[in-house]
Amino acid sequence: MSTDHNCIFCKIAAGQIPAKKFYEDDELIAFHDIRPAAPVHFLVIPKLHLASLNEAGPEHAALLGRMLELAPKLAREQGATNGFRTVINTGPDGGQEVYHLHMHVMGGPRPWKQG
Ligand code: AMP
Ligand code: ZN
Repeated sequence: MSTDHNCIFCKIAAGQIPAKKFYEDDELIAFHDIRPAAPVHFLVIPKLHLASLNEAGPEHAALLGRMLELAPKLAREQGATNGFRTVINTGPDGGQEVYHLHMHVMGGPRPWKQG
């Protein structure tokens, strides 16, 4: 399924609910996390609805690669100039709350609120 109409991140991708979006291309968007755990904390998501990394297959390898490749560029632009952390929570034991694949990018001067 390319879009899930009950999915909050699909709605953000479609511009139907507001978010602090600062990057968009044909496949990906990035926006600031609503509950930042670090001075710089944003999410990179595919526009395509994939519930989690568990639903990704070989056909998504390039998309996943693009998410990773984009992270350092956006992190620097957002002010994380001294490194950053990338996190993808998957499933209940992974602590996943929103079931639309997303990669956290966290950085900025320490201490952070978490970790
Ligand atoms: P998780 O699924 O565990 O990676 O957590 C979901 C993340 O999405 C949390 O860090 C939330 O703060 C963030 N989040 C949830 N809703 C929104 C929203 N409407 N805009 C921005 N970030 C959100
Ligand atoms: Zn979705």
